[in-house]
Amino acid sequence: MNQSGIYIHFPFCEKKCSYCDFYSIENLSKACIFTNSLLSEIELRSQRHESKPNLSSIFIGGGTPSLLPPESIGRILQSIKSHFSFGEDIEITIECNPDSTLLENLHDYRKLGINRISLGVQSFARDELISLGRLHTPEQAAAAFHSARSAGFDNIGIDLIFAVPGQSARSWSRTIDKALELGPNHISAYSLIYEKGTPLYKSLADGDVSRVRENDEVIYYETIIHRLAAGGYEHYEVSNFALSGKYCRHNLDIWHGGRYFAFGPSAHGYIGNQRYWNVRNIDEYIFLVGKGRLPVSGCEEISGFDCIAERIMLGLRADGIDPGRFQADFGIDIKSDIAGLIESLAEHNFIIPNESNIRLSKKGYLIADELIAKVVLAIEKAMN
Ligand code: SF4
Repeated sequence: MNQSGIYIHFPFCEKKCSYCDFYSIENLSKACIFTNSLLSEIELRSQRHESKPNLSSIFIGGGTPSLLPPESIGRILQSIKSHFSFGEDIEITIECNPDSTLLENLHDYRKLGINRISLGVQSFARDELISLGRLHTPEQAAAAFHSARSAGFDNIGIDLIFAVPGQSARSWSRTIDKALELGPNHISAYSLIYEKGTPLYKSLADGDVSRVRENDEVIYYETIIHRLAAGGYEHYEVSNFALSGKYCRHNLDIWHGGRYFAFGPSAHGYIGNQRYWNVRNIDEYIFLVGKGRLPVSGCEEISGFDCIAERIMLGLRADGIDPGRFQADFGIDIKSDIAGLIESLAEHNFIIPNESNIRLSKKGYLIADELIAKVVLAIEKAMN
Protein backbone atom coordinates (compact mmCIF):
# COMPACT_ATOMS: atom_id res chain seq x y z
CA MET A 1 0.00 0.00 0.00
CA ASN A 2 1.25 3.52 -0.85
CA GLN A 3 2.51 5.46 2.15
CA SER A 4 1.51 9.07 2.73
CA GLY A 5 2.51 11.80 5.10
CA ILE A 6 0.71 14.68 6.77
CA TYR A 7 2.06 18.13 7.54
CA ILE A 8 0.15 20.36 9.96
CA HIS A 9 1.01 24.05 10.11
CA PHE A 10 0.28 25.70 13.46
CA PRO A 11 0.42 29.42 12.65
CA PHE A 12 1.25 30.99 16.02
CA CYS A 13 4.48 32.03 17.73
CA GLU A 14 5.04 33.89 20.95
CA LYS A 15 7.27 36.36 19.09
CA LYS A 16 8.55 36.41 15.53
CA CYS A 17 12.25 35.63 15.15
CA SER A 18 14.16 38.23 13.17
CA TYR A 19 15.08 35.91 10.29
CA CYS A 20 11.86 33.92 9.90
CA ASP A 21 9.51 34.17 6.95
CA PHE A 22 7.31 31.20 7.81
CA TYR A 23 3.70 32.22 8.24
CA SER A 24 2.85 32.76 11.91
CA ILE A 25 1.27 35.48 13.99
CA GLU A 26 1.99 36.53 17.55
CA ASN A 27 -1.60 36.87 18.70
CA LEU A 28 -2.74 33.54 20.11
CA SER A 29 -6.34 34.56 20.70
CA LYS A 30 -7.45 32.64 17.60
CA ALA A 31 -5.72 29.39 18.53
CA CYS A 32 -8.96 27.73 19.63
CA ILE A 33 -10.98 28.68 16.56
CA PHE A 34 -7.97 27.71 14.42
CA THR A 35 -8.01 24.21 15.93
CA ASN A 36 -11.70 23.82 15.08
CA SER A 37 -11.04 25.03 11.53
CA LEU A 38 -8.17 22.59 11.19
CA LEU A 39 -10.46 19.71 12.19
CA SER A 40 -12.94 20.85 9.54
CA GLU A 41 -10.20 21.08 6.91
CA ILE A 42 -9.10 17.51 7.68
CA GLU A 43 -12.71 16.39 7.32
CA LEU A 44 -13.21 18.35 4.07
CA ARG A 45 -10.07 17.00 2.45
CA SER A 46 -10.76 13.43 3.52
CA GLN A 47 -14.12 13.55 1.70
CA ARG A 48 -12.04 13.70 -1.51
CA HIS A 49 -10.50 10.26 -1.18
CA GLU A 50 -12.42 7.04 -1.06
CA SER A 51 -10.32 4.76 1.11
CA LYS A 52 -8.32 5.79 4.15
CA PRO A 53 -4.78 6.71 3.04
CA ASN A 54 -2.11 4.86 4.97
CA LEU A 55 0.21 7.21 6.87
CA SER A 56 3.89 6.66 7.56
CA SER A 57 4.48 10.08 9.11
CA ILE A 58 2.79 13.09 10.62
CA PHE A 59 4.73 16.30 11.19
CA ILE A 60 3.18 18.94 13.42
CA GLY A 61 5.14 22.08 12.62
CA GLY A 62 4.70 25.79 12.31
CA GLY A 63 4.94 28.23 13.93
CA THR A 64 5.30 26.90 17.45
CA PRO A 65 2.95 23.96 18.00
CA SER A 66 4.32 23.44 21.51
CA LEU A 67 2.21 26.50 22.43
CA LEU A 68 -0.95 24.47 21.78
CA PRO A 69 -2.38 22.60 24.79
CA PRO A 70 -1.83 18.81 24.50
CA GLU A 71 -5.63 18.29 24.58
CA SER A 72 -5.91 20.26 21.32
CA ILE A 73 -3.11 18.23 19.77
CA GLY A 74 -4.97 15.12 20.93
CA ARG A 75 -8.12 16.30 19.14
CA ILE A 76 -6.15 16.90 15.94
CA LEU A 77 -4.53 13.47 16.05
CA GLN A 78 -7.87 11.85 16.83
CA SER A 79 -9.42 13.52 13.82
CA ILE A 80 -6.53 12.38 11.59
CA LYS A 81 -6.95 8.87 12.94
CA SER A 82 -10.61 8.77 12.00
CA HIS A 83 -9.89 9.73 8.38
CA PHE A 84 -6.51 8.06 7.73
CA SER A 85 -4.99 4.78 8.80
CA PHE A 86 -1.81 4.83 10.82
CA GLY A 87 1.09 2.66 9.62
CA GLU A 88 2.37 0.27 12.27
CA ASP A 89 5.53 2.23 12.98
CA ILE A 90 4.22 5.66 12.10
CA GLU A 91 6.57 8.55 12.94
CA ILE A 92 4.76 11.45 14.63
CA THR A 93 6.87 14.56 15.15
CA ILE A 94 6.08 17.77 16.97
CA GLU A 95 8.21 20.89 16.69
CA CYS A 96 8.98 22.47 20.03
CA ASN A 97 10.66 25.68 21.03
CA PRO A 98 12.84 25.45 24.15
CA ASP A 99 10.95 28.25 25.94
CA SER A 100 7.58 26.52 25.54
CA THR A 101 8.57 22.89 26.11
CA LEU A 102 7.04 21.80 29.40
CA LEU A 103 7.82 18.45 30.96
CA GLU A 104 4.18 17.65 31.66
CA ASN A 105 3.27 18.42 28.05
CA LEU A 106 6.05 16.15 26.84
CA HIS A 107 4.59 13.32 28.92
CA ASP A 108 1.19 14.04 27.37
CA TYR A 109 2.68 14.00 23.87
CA ARG A 110 4.03 10.51 24.56
CA LYS A 111 0.60 9.37 25.68
CA LEU A 112 -0.86 10.77 22.44
CA GLY A 113 1.52 8.61 20.41
CA ILE A 114 3.94 11.37 19.41
CA ASN A 115 7.32 9.69 19.15
CA ARG A 116 9.68 12.33 17.80
CA ILE A 117 10.60 15.83 18.97
CA SER A 118 12.12 18.47 16.73
CA LEU A 119 13.66 21.11 18.97
CA GLY A 120 14.43 24.59 17.64
CA VAL A 121 17.79 25.15 19.33
CA GLN A 122 19.50 27.16 16.55
CA SER A 123 22.60 28.07 18.60
CA PHE A 124 24.17 27.56 22.01
CA ALA A 125 25.67 31.08 21.96
CA ARG A 126 23.60 33.60 23.89
CA ASP A 127 24.50 36.61 21.72
CA GLU A 128 23.62 34.71 18.53
CA LEU A 129 20.24 33.71 19.95
CA ILE A 130 19.59 37.37 20.73
CA SER A 131 20.57 38.50 17.24
CA LEU A 132 18.25 35.85 15.77
CA GLY A 133 15.45 37.17 17.98
CA ARG A 134 15.02 33.84 19.75
CA LEU A 135 13.27 33.89 23.12
CA HIS A 136 15.23 31.11 24.79
CA THR A 137 18.69 30.84 26.31
CA PRO A 138 21.26 28.09 25.65
CA GLU A 139 20.46 26.69 29.11
CA GLN A 140 16.75 26.46 28.31
CA ALA A 141 17.57 24.60 25.10
CA ALA A 142 19.64 22.03 26.99
CA ALA A 143 16.97 21.75 29.70
CA ALA A 144 14.23 21.19 27.11
CA PHE A 145 16.34 18.49 25.49
CA HIS A 146 16.85 16.70 28.82
CA SER A 147 13.13 17.01 29.62
CA ALA A 148 12.29 15.34 26.32
CA ARG A 149 14.70 12.52 27.07
CA SER A 150 13.32 12.10 30.58
CA ALA A 151 9.78 11.99 29.20
CA GLY A 152 10.91 8.97 27.17
CA PHE A 153 11.64 10.41 23.74
CA ASP A 154 14.36 8.32 22.13
CA ASN A 155 14.13 10.21 18.86
CA ILE A 156 14.99 13.90 19.19
CA GLY A 157 16.18 16.18 16.42
CA ILE A 158 17.62 19.63 16.92
CA ASP A 159 17.93 22.50 14.43
CA LEU A 160 21.05 24.66 14.24
CA ILE A 161 21.81 27.77 12.20
CA PHE A 162 25.26 28.84 11.06
CA ALA A 163 26.66 32.00 9.43
CA VAL A 164 24.77 34.12 12.00
CA PRO A 165 26.01 37.75 12.00
CA GLY A 166 28.98 38.07 14.32
CA GLN A 167 29.44 34.29 14.62
CA SER A 168 33.06 33.21 14.95
CA ALA A 169 34.56 29.85 14.04
CA ARG A 170 35.06 29.34 17.77
CA SER A 171 31.47 29.99 18.79
CA TRP A 172 30.19 27.76 15.98
CA SER A 173 32.55 25.05 17.14
CA ARG A 174 31.27 25.45 20.72
CA THR A 175 27.69 25.10 19.49
CA ILE A 176 28.66 21.86 17.74
CA ASP A 177 30.46 20.67 20.90
CA LYS A 178 27.34 21.26 22.95
CA ALA A 179 25.12 19.56 20.38
CA LEU A 180 27.39 16.50 20.37
CA GLU A 181 27.45 16.47 24.16
CA LEU A 182 23.64 16.30 24.25
CA GLY A 183 23.63 13.57 21.61
CA PRO A 184 20.41 14.18 19.67
CA ASN A 185 19.40 11.51 17.17
CA HIS A 186 19.12 14.00 14.34
CA ILE A 187 20.69 17.38 13.57
CA SER A 188 19.60 19.83 10.88
CA ALA A 189 22.10 22.59 10.18
CA TYR A 190 21.02 25.45 7.97
CA SER A 191 23.00 28.39 6.75
CA LEU A 192 21.23 31.63 7.66
CA ILE A 193 19.15 33.06 4.84
CA TYR A 194 18.27 36.75 4.75
CA GLU A 195 14.65 36.42 3.64
CA LYS A 196 13.12 39.49 2.05
CA GLY A 197 10.60 41.20 4.33
CA THR A 198 12.13 40.00 7.59
CA PRO A 199 13.62 42.36 10.19
CA LEU A 200 16.99 40.73 9.67
CA TYR A 201 16.86 41.49 5.95
CA LYS A 202 16.16 45.13 6.79
CA SER A 203 19.04 45.22 9.29
CA LEU A 204 21.33 43.94 6.55
CA ALA A 205 20.04 46.49 4.05
CA ASP A 206 20.45 49.28 6.63
CA GLY A 207 24.00 48.17 7.35
CA ASP A 208 23.21 47.29 10.98
CA VAL A 209 24.50 43.73 10.57
CA SER A 210 26.92 42.21 8.12
CA ARG A 211 26.95 38.82 6.50
CA VAL A 212 29.50 36.25 7.49
CA ARG A 213 32.07 36.10 4.65
CA GLU A 214 31.24 33.47 2.03
CA ASN A 215 34.49 31.70 2.61
CA ASP A 216 33.79 31.45 6.34
CA GLU A 217 30.29 30.15 5.64
CA VAL A 218 31.81 27.31 3.60
CA ILE A 219 34.28 26.60 6.40
CA TYR A 220 31.45 26.47 8.98
CA TYR A 221 29.55 24.04 6.77
CA GLU A 222 32.63 21.86 6.30
CA THR A 223 33.26 22.00 10.04
CA ILE A 224 29.87 20.59 10.93
CA ILE A 225 30.09 17.93 8.21
CA HIS A 226 33.41 16.68 9.59
CA ARG A 227 32.55 17.02 13.25
CA LEU A 228 29.24 15.19 12.92
CA ALA A 229 30.75 12.47 10.75
CA ALA A 230 33.34 11.92 13.49
CA GLY A 231 30.49 11.79 16.01
CA GLY A 232 28.79 8.96 14.11
CA TYR A 233 26.16 10.99 12.26
CA GLU A 234 25.28 10.11 8.68
CA HIS A 235 25.01 13.05 6.29
CA TYR A 236 21.87 12.06 4.41
CA GLU A 237 20.78 15.35 2.90
CA VAL A 238 22.50 18.68 2.24
CA SER A 239 21.43 20.07 5.64
CA ASN A 240 20.52 16.92 7.57
CA PHE A 241 22.50 14.48 9.67
CA ALA A 242 21.26 11.53 11.70
CA LEU A 243 22.40 8.61 13.75
CA SER A 244 21.80 5.29 12.05
CA GLY A 245 18.11 4.52 11.61
CA LYS A 246 17.02 7.99 12.71
CA TYR A 247 16.60 9.75 9.38
CA CYS A 248 13.50 11.95 9.49
CA ARG A 249 10.92 9.85 7.70
CA HIS A 250 8.70 12.80 6.91
CA ASN A 251 11.56 14.51 5.04
CA LEU A 252 12.61 11.31 3.31
CA ASP A 253 9.10 10.67 2.04
CA ILE A 254 8.95 14.18 0.59
CA TRP A 255 12.40 13.90 -0.99
CA HIS A 256 11.46 10.58 -2.54
CA GLY A 257 8.46 12.16 -4.21
CA GLY A 258 5.90 10.67 -1.82
CA ARG A 259 2.38 11.98 -1.35
CA TYR A 260 1.70 14.28 1.58
CA PHE A 261 -1.37 16.07 2.77
CA ALA A 262 -0.99 19.52 4.28
CA PHE A 263 -3.32 21.31 6.66
CA GLY A 264 -3.28 24.81 8.11
CA PRO A 265 -2.61 28.28 6.68
CA SER A 266 0.33 28.42 4.21
CA ALA A 267 0.85 24.63 4.33
CA HIS A 268 2.02 22.99 1.10
CA GLY A 269 0.87 19.51 0.06
CA TYR A 270 1.50 17.14 -2.84
CA ILE A 271 -1.14 14.68 -3.97
CA GLY A 272 -1.27 12.76 -7.25
CA ASN A 273 1.23 14.90 -9.19
CA GLN A 274 -0.45 18.05 -7.95
CA ARG A 275 1.16 20.46 -5.54
CA TYR A 276 -1.18 22.74 -3.64
CA TRP A 277 -0.74 25.47 -1.07
CA ASN A 278 -3.15 26.95 1.41
CA VAL A 279 -3.95 30.62 1.95
CA ARG A 280 -1.35 32.45 4.03
CA ASN A 281 -3.76 34.31 6.25
CA ILE A 282 -5.50 32.94 9.31
CA ASP A 283 -8.71 34.95 8.90
CA GLU A 284 -9.11 33.89 5.29
CA TYR A 285 -8.33 30.31 6.29
CA ILE A 286 -10.98 30.29 9.02
CA PHE A 287 -13.48 32.01 6.71
CA LEU A 288 -13.04 29.56 3.81
CA VAL A 289 -13.15 26.46 5.96
CA GLY A 290 -16.21 27.89 7.74
CA LYS A 291 -17.92 28.09 4.33
CA GLY A 292 -17.16 24.43 3.74
CA ARG A 293 -14.42 25.17 1.20
CA LEU A 294 -10.86 23.89 1.11
CA PRO A 295 -8.57 26.84 1.97
CA VAL A 296 -6.40 26.31 -1.10
CA SER A 297 -4.77 29.39 -2.56
CA GLY A 298 -3.12 27.75 -5.57
CA CYS A 299 -2.04 24.51 -7.15
CA GLU A 300 0.13 23.29 -9.99
CA GLU A 301 0.43 20.08 -11.91
CA ILE A 302 3.92 18.62 -11.74
CA SER A 303 4.19 16.80 -15.05
CA GLY A 304 6.47 16.18 -17.99
CA PHE A 305 10.02 17.46 -17.58
CA ASP A 306 9.17 19.24 -14.28
CA CYS A 307 8.64 15.81 -12.72
CA ILE A 308 12.04 14.64 -13.92
CA ALA A 309 13.81 17.82 -12.81
CA GLU A 310 12.17 17.59 -9.40
CA ARG A 311 13.19 13.96 -8.93
CA ILE A 312 16.80 14.87 -9.80
CA MET A 313 16.79 17.84 -7.45
CA LEU A 314 15.23 15.99 -4.51
CA GLY A 315 17.35 12.88 -5.06
CA LEU A 316 20.67 14.66 -5.35
CA ARG A 317 19.99 16.88 -2.34
CA ALA A 318 19.23 13.76 -0.31
CA ASP A 319 20.42 10.17 -0.53
CA GLY A 320 20.78 9.90 -4.30
CA ILE A 321 19.00 8.74 -7.44
CA ASP A 322 18.32 5.09 -8.11
CA PRO A 323 19.13 4.73 -11.86
CA GLY A 324 16.91 1.63 -12.23
CA ARG A 325 13.89 3.31 -10.71
CA PHE A 326 14.59 6.49 -12.66
CA GLN A 327 14.60 4.51 -15.90
CA ALA A 328 11.43 2.66 -14.96
CA ASP A 329 9.63 5.92 -14.12
CA PHE A 330 10.89 8.14 -16.92
CA GLY A 331 12.45 5.85 -19.55
CA ILE A 332 15.80 7.60 -19.17
CA ASP A 333 18.98 5.60 -18.64
CA ILE A 334 20.74 8.27 -16.63
CA LYS A 335 24.04 6.39 -16.49
CA SER A 336 24.45 6.07 -20.22
CA ASP A 337 22.46 9.06 -21.46
CA ILE A 338 24.66 11.53 -19.56
CA ALA A 339 27.66 9.24 -19.10
CA GLY A 340 30.19 11.99 -19.93
CA LEU A 341 28.93 14.32 -17.21
CA ILE A 342 28.62 11.55 -14.62
CA GLU A 343 32.20 10.44 -15.30
CA SER A 344 33.56 13.95 -15.13
CA LEU A 345 31.72 14.74 -11.84
CA ALA A 346 32.89 11.44 -10.36
CA GLU A 347 36.47 12.12 -11.44
CA HIS A 348 36.35 15.45 -9.61
CA ASN A 349 34.86 13.72 -6.60
CA PHE A 350 31.56 15.63 -6.70
CA ILE A 351 29.38 12.54 -7.03
CA ILE A 352 29.60 8.92 -6.01
CA PRO A 353 28.07 6.71 -8.69
CA ASN A 354 27.53 2.98 -8.24
CA GLU A 355 25.20 0.35 -9.64
CA SER A 356 22.15 1.25 -7.60
CA ASN A 357 22.72 4.86 -6.66
CA ILE A 358 24.12 8.18 -7.87
CA ARG A 359 24.62 10.60 -5.02
CA LEU A 360 26.54 13.73 -4.12
CA SER A 361 29.78 13.41 -2.18
CA LYS A 362 30.57 15.65 0.79
CA LYS A 363 32.42 17.92 -1.64
CA GLY A 364 29.39 17.83 -3.94
CA TYR A 365 27.01 18.89 -1.15
CA LEU A 366 28.98 22.15 -0.91
CA ILE A 367 27.84 23.16 -4.41
CA ALA A 368 24.66 21.09 -4.60
CA ASP A 369 22.56 23.66 -6.47
CA GLU A 370 25.18 24.13 -9.19
CA LEU A 371 25.58 20.38 -9.70
CA ILE A 372 21.82 19.78 -9.77
CA ALA A 373 21.44 22.47 -12.45
CA LYS A 374 24.15 20.78 -14.54
CA VAL A 375 22.54 17.35 -14.31
CA VAL A 376 19.06 18.70 -15.10
CA LEU A 377 20.39 20.56 -18.14
CA ALA A 378 22.30 17.52 -19.39
CA ILE A 379 19.21 15.30 -19.08
CA GLU A 380 17.09 17.87 -20.89
CA LYS A 381 19.62 18.01 -23.74
CA ALA A 382 19.83 14.21 -23.91
CA MET A 383 16.07 14.02 -24.26
CA ASN A 384 15.93 16.43 -27.21
S1 SF4 B 1 9.74 30.24 16.49
FE1 SF4 B 1 10.13 29.26 14.50
S2 SF4 B 1 8.29 29.67 13.26
FE2 SF4 B 1 8.23 31.06 15.04
S3 SF4 B 1 9.14 32.93 14.29
FE3 SF4 B 1 10.79 31.74 15.23
S4 SF4 B 1 11.67 30.54 13.57
FE4 SF4 B 1 9.71 31.32 12.86
